[in-house]
Amino acid sequence: MEINNIFCVGRNYRKHAEELGNTIPKEPIIFSKPTHSIVYAQGQQISYPLEDGEIHYEIEVVLRIKDQPKGNNFTVNDSISHLGLGIDLTKRDLQTKLKERGYPWLLAKGFKNAAILTDFWDFPGEEICKGVDFSLTKNGHIVQKGNISQLIFPFEKLLRYIHQHFGLKKGDIVFTGTPEGVGPISHGDFFEMWWGEERKGEFKVKTYE
Ligand code: ZN
Repeated sequence: MEINNIFCVGRNYRKHAEELGNTIPKEPIIFSKPTHSIVYAQGQQISYPLEDGEIHYEIEVVLRIKDQPKGNNFTVNDSISHLGLGIDLTKRDLQTKLKERGYPWLLAKGFKNAAILTDFWDFPGEEICKGVDFSLTKNGHIVQKGNISQLIFPFEKLLRYIHQHFGLKKGDIVFTGTPEGVGPISHGDFFEMWWGEERKGEFKVKTYE
C-alpha cells in the first residue's frame, strides 16, 4: 500500500500533554515524517542507535486518506479509506534540546524506522472506532491505552486543519496523537499493538551505541 505524506499531531491527548509538562494547545501542532522512516511491524527485530539518548514509544491511531477532500465540504467517513496503528517513535532527549533551541523536531521524529506501522484495514467509521480501545503492550504488560473519544482535536478538526494548510491526498496517512504512558525503549523489548482484543502488529527492539 503506497504511502505519500506522513502527517502527525503533537499533544492531542490531555494527559499526555500534561505528562510531558506541556500546555494544552488551541490549534493542532502538526509535523511530518519522511516516508523513509516507515517500517512495518511484522514480528521482526528493528534496530535503533541510542547515540542521542532515550527513544520513546508513542502508540497512535493512524488514518489513511481516501480521496482528496472536496473544498471544505468533506466528511470524515468519506475521507478515510483505512485505519491502522502506528508508533511515532521519538528521540525524547534530542527533542527536548531541539525545543529549547527553537529548532524543528525532524531529527527527533524523522529518523530511520521512526514510523512503525501495522498493516491497514478498512475504516469502519468513526463511531465504531469510539467503541474500541487501542493499546500497546511491552513485554506482555500494557503501557499505553487510549480511545479516540479522548482526542483534543477529533478526526474532523484534524483533517480539516491539515487539508487547509498542507493539502491532503489519497495515500497520505495521519498519526492522530498518543495517549499518556509514553516511555523509553530498551534492547530486547517486545512490543505488541492492539486494536481492542486484536493484535495488529508486533516487533522486537534491538539497540546499539
Ligand atoms: Zn506522537
